[in-house]
Amino acid sequence: MIRTPLRYHRPRTPDEASALLVEHRGDVAVLGGGTQLLPQMNRDQVHVGHLVDLRGLGLRRIEVTDDQVVVEALVTYADVLLSRDLSRAAPHLRRVAHGVTGGRQIRNTGTLAGSACFAMPGSDMPAALVGIDAILRLHGPDGAREVRAADFYVDAFTTVLRPGEFVLAITIPRTAARTGYCKVKHSSGSWPIATATARRLDGSATVTLGSVHATPLHVDVSDLASNGPVDRAALADRVRSALPAPWTDVLAPGDYRARIAGVVAARAFSELEGVPA
Ligand SMILES: Cc1cc2nc3c(=O)[nH]c(=O)nc-3n(C[C@H](O)[C@H](O)[C@H](O)COP(=O)(O)OP(=O)(O)OC[C@H]3O[C@@H](n4cnc5c(N)ncnc54)[C@H](O)[C@@H]3O)c2cc1C
Repeated sequence: MIRTPLRYHRPRTPDEASALLVEHRGDVAVLGGGTQLLPQMNRDQVHVGHLVDLRGLGLRRIEVTDDQVVVEALVTYADVLLSRDLSRAAPHLRRVAHGVTGGRQIRNTGTLAGSACFAMPGSDMPAALVGIDAILRLHGPDGAREVRAADFYVDAFTTVLRPGEFVLAITIPRTAARTGYCKVKHSSGSWPIATATARRLDGSATVTLGSVHATPLHVDVSDLASNGPVDRAALADRVRSALPAPWTDVLAPGDYRARIAGVVAARAFSELEGVPA
């Protein structure tokens, strides 16, 4: 139960939303699907006097064009799973959304943007967005700006969002990139312990690891892939040395995550390259 007085706002324009966020700075939160925020308020972990609900802005569109996919801020996991256009244009995003647990309630209510903004290290979405070069379209008191997902995460639960800013949409460039994916978790119903998105585009090869560090860990391994498949032993070494402070939570200690990170990265490349890990 939320025990403190609360004012609910439903702005009609992005400018109005930003103005409310500035006016009530320090005592306000953006409301997406509410699947993280409202339980936190119920548990007395978040105390704000004002909620700014984005639903008055629409923001439920998925738009697929020749060069990009735009996923607006209130698009849910279910919307992603139901969109055939998105499945064709951004299959990796669909796959990641499919792996999010919590059942129908979370799929139907939780938004990709909410997960991106919550910036929880153990979530699927932040590293998935970094791994496919997504861009976050922000709106704030000074207007709009775009930030690459790779530059969005500062620390656990911390992003570059400034006072008054919120995410309007997530844009994914449509490139000829191929991806491979691996996710390790305790059971089909649990959150990830480690994820890896392997990607090859033109001459470059990268792997983005999630849930193993406070922020998504993006590692360029192009030099390990100059003569064909990425060298697995060198990949494991590279990932290990890029991970000085592995993430610990109730699901797994950091040293376990550090031990498996290289293997998870190798499996993602195995899927991508069709070569056993
Ligand atoms: C039972 C359960 C199981 C789950 N399983 C998984 C799982 O397996 N993997 C996984 O990755 N996640 C999992 N989740 C988390 C789920 O992905 C998130 O709860 C959901 O995506 C958050 O989106 P939301 O719209 O509900 O965010 P909200 O709860 O509305 O908001 C979350 C935070 O982001 C902020 N915010 C929201 N939208 C915006 C915006 N547009 N701009 C700026 N700030 C914004 C809010 O102020 C708040 O701080 C699970 C959650 C539950 C409850």
